[in-house]
Amino acid sequence: MKIICIGRNYADHAKEMQAPLPKTPIFFMKPETALLRTRDFFYPKFTSELHYECELVLKIDKVGKNIQEKFAHTYYSSFTLGIDFTARDLQKKCKENGLPWEIAKSFDQSAPLSKHWIEITDSAENITFELEHNGVIVQKGFSQDMIFTFDQIIAYVSKFITLKKGDLIFTGTPAGVGPIQIGDHLKARLFDKEVLSFYVR
Ligand code: ZN
Repeated sequence: MKIICIGRNYADHAKEMQAPLPKTPIFFMKPETALLRTRDFFYPKFTSELHYECELVLKIDKVGKNIQEKFAHTYYSSFTLGIDFTARDLQKKCKENGLPWEIAKSFDQSAPLSKHWIEITDSAENITFELEHNGVIVQKGFSQDMIFTFDQIIAYVSKFITLKKGDLIFTGTPAGVGPIQIGDHLKARLFDKEVLSFYVR
């Protein structure tokens, strides 16, 4: 199982990062060990600027390579929310030196994931979600604001990498990313339903 993450997929987030809008999807990967398997998240020692990024996550249902955009919807049937934790201080250094981002993005527990999967139906085209940080809503997402759609992402990624059943795709974060501290609480809602809630220890 692998986790594919899309970067800069919302214009307002690209703007807050002072990054140009991408012409093709930008992706990177996290290993399976990035999934949060404990109840709470433990703040890693190697960073002092850890940011949350709340994202819609797709689960791939079947194996596929070079998937055409028009058939991409047949490769997933459910979605949920996850957090793409990012060591922003390490990421800045990687970017400055033209190095890969893995140490900033792919560390253990860097991908908390909701267990509540929602089936995709016709009525679920307009997906709304939000992240609450210590009781304050800090991110609000709307699937229609994505620069690249679920289907475009799948078509692009599968040109390079075979997708397999159980793979996850984090589809990018809207604006409002920010730092967390030990003791903080994060809660994510998909539509109006709470699907993820945990403390930073
Ligand atoms: Zn992200």
